[in-house]
Amino acid sequence: MGELFANVIVDISHERVDRPFQYRVPERLQGAVRVGSPVSVPFGAGNRLRKAYVVELTCQAEFDPSRIKEIAGVDETGFCAASQLISLAWWMKERYGSTMNQALKTVLPVKEKIRPVEKKTIRTELSQEELKELCREARRKHYRARERLFSALLDMEEVPYELAVRQLRLTAAALKPMEEKGWIRVDRAEVYRNPVSPVEKRGEEIELNAGQRAAADAFIRDYRAGKPGTYLLYGITGSGKTEVYMEMMAEVLRDGKQVIVLIPEIALTYQTVMRFYRRFGSVVSVINSRLSKGERYDQFERARKGEIQVMIGPRSALFTPFENLGLIVIDEEQEGAYKSELAPRYHAREAAQKRASMAGAGLVLGSATPSLEAYSRALRGEYRLLCLTERAKKDSRLAQTEVVDLREELKSGNRSIFSRRLQELMEDRMEKKEQIMLFINRRGYSSFVSCRSCGEALKCPHCDVSLTLHRNGRLKCHYCGYEIPMPDRCPSCGSPYIAGFGTGTQKIEELTKKMFPQARVLRMDMDTTSKKGGHEEILSAFAEGEADILIGTQMIVKGHDFPKVTLVGVLAADLSLHAPDFACGERTFQILTQAAGRAGRGTDAGSVVIQTYLPDHYSIQAAAAQDYGLFYEKEMTYRRLLHYPPALCMLTIGAACGKEEVLIQAAETMGRTAKAAVNGAGEQGDGRETGWEAGGPAPEIIGPVDAPIYKVNDIYRKILYIKHENYDILLRIRKEIEKLELPVMLSFDLQ
Ligand code: ADP
Ligand code: ZN
Ligand code: ZN
Repeated sequence: MGELFANVIVDISHERVDRPFQYRVPERLQGAVRVGSPVSVPFGAGNRLRKAYVVELTCQAEFDPSRIKEIAGVDETGFCAASQLISLAWWMKERYGSTMNQALKTVLPVKEKIRPVEKKTIRTELSQEELKELCREARRKHYRARERLFSALLDMEEVPYELAVRQLRLTAAALKPMEEKGWIRVDRAEVYRNPVSPVEKRGEEIELNAGQRAAADAFIRDYRAGKPGTYLLYGITGSGKTEVYMEMMAEVLRDGKQVIVLIPEIALTYQTVMRFYRRFGSVVSVINSRLSKGERYDQFERARKGEIQVMIGPRSALFTPFENLGLIVIDEEQEGAYKSELAPRYHAREAAQKRASMAGAGLVLGSATPSLEAYSRALRGEYRLLCLTERAKKDSRLAQTEVVDLREELKSGNRSIFSRRLQELMEDRMEKKEQIMLFINRRGYSSFVSCRSCGEALKCPHCDVSLTLHRNGRLKCHYCGYEIPMPDRCPSCGSPYIAGFGTGTQKIEELTKKMFPQARVLRMDMDTTSKKGGHEEILSAFAEGEADILIGTQMIVKGHDFPKVTLVGVLAADLSLHAPDFACGERTFQILTQAAGRAGRGTDAGSVVIQTYLPDHYSIQAAAAQDYGLFYEKEMTYRRLLHYPPALCMLTIGAACGKEEVLIQAAETMGRTAKAAVNGAGEQGDGRETGWEAGGPAPEIIGPVDAPIYKVNDIYRKILYIKHENYDILLRIRKEIEKLELPVMLSFDLQ
């Protein structure tokens, strides 16, 4: 056997992750040493033995081989959480194309200076009656955070301090007077519950319905048989997926194992989190992006030490170092937020599957609108499909949905943004004092300014995007922050006829108030939620009936239950159909289905009005009919026809550079290399594996082309697409291009 070297990191809890050290793998240990293996190595001048982890195996010595020390031993029994995470990092590097360093930094939390943490718990001696009274009083006085705490204490004997601060949004200053009045007590001792026996919930028992029971049991049976697999829980909005997750989790926790629950940040509201706390008590911990690195590290440490058993959080919670992981749940698996924007550009669904298989854990993906990717895998039998086809709450029915053709409205002279049908229903709901949600299907809404003489839109000089007009009359670039006052003449042709164009949340708010002067209106968008907790404040104000109408972008349709909403108006359903990528039909269907799912969550039947210029588009039709099957069939046909994933695999290579000539050169080289790799692979007989030499289709190369937004922050961007049914071929082409070491920034996406 040839010489083998191992790059190791010596102390994973330290910044040394930045710097691997190289050791020789002695012959007797070859085979036993894997990526992730805990090993002992002589370290430093004194050659004291230290524990280290292997992050990479290579045949190449990085310096004079005679000076490379040998690994002393390998701990074969201890393929612990850290080992698994390191192997996961290795897999991510290979799969997504990044450096090992980037991958390690993603999976291992870097230690920061942390103050020692005290575990604090809030308790009360008050009776249920007294608590209820305080709750009512807090509501009257609009002390929302206080009300949330009292209502939490009604449900649970004790509330972890962290939960109160992070999820219920209390501050130390707000807790103080409550403590002084003797309503609550903040205990500062180390008071853990027995972590293996989750508390039984105090709230009202929910008994699973037959569908939920069957879904939970499918997992539980496999789990007990020692072979939990991957499941896709497809359940319509309001079908009670969360109860099913919790039932599965209870089984795993009873068995002494741990659970990771991924929830998109936007749906990680205190309402959601409280459901888990209520059921499992203080073995639950939550992380979110508002935590500092130190706080996050802290939570991971607690997990590693076995102080918590359930971690809830966005994408990165996947890397919680549980030693004995039994289950990973990914709620709303179709969410775009599960894909990392930074290298390694991993998808949490894929990385979770890898992690689950290393740990022997189950993986449950849940959605009302599964991604095409997940659903096609389920149909192929790679995932086990579990279905919930009915709403969980008795008397709760799916809303009545109507599609309104805006072209017809215009023809009959209605130029308002509200169709006649929507106006009529809004009046009706205002009269009945029921709530309304108006949803604009427009991400980060922007109203741009254009010239009526030459037709040019006012653009950012640094980025290829239109500037956004704000109410204060200034024009802003949402990509780089560039800002100017609104000019009085067109910068291109000098014409004075320039004006704002487009319909945004602010505009809709104004129009709504004009049409319904008596209505209390809340608006939720980037502007109104930017302050800390703004998002949650607005949602709870609306839930508590402080407004009649809530207007907003996609933020308002995720993961919140508003039982009093009986009308949802979708104002521009097709806007998202014009986005420049192949998945826009899928996103449109998902968002419309979610929006429609907001109506009629209570006992009153709901109505949904979808206004559109494209009433015949299948995404809109299928969403209106709440028919996932119909949508899947149409969308899959389209993907097959046009060769898009998941019909086949697609490698997207992005190149970016501040110097346009350099970028153009690099892009050409990339294109040439890809072509050569394709031809070469075919000729070298690799074709046997791929089949295209023997008449199968060769990989298809598209581009390089300019990115949809060619320039951002003075950086130019180009894209190259390569498609083929064989994933490994694309992986190989990616590696060829990585090897070029082009003087531009590259990003890879392989789906
Ligand atoms: P989903 O996540 O599928 O949209 P949820 O889990 O949020 O659905 O459940 C919707 C509502 O139905 C929640 O208020 C939940 O408490 C309630 N619910 C769930 N299961 C049951 C059940 N078996 N019986 C009564 N109510 C239920
Ligand atoms: Zn002009
Ligand atoms: Zn800009």
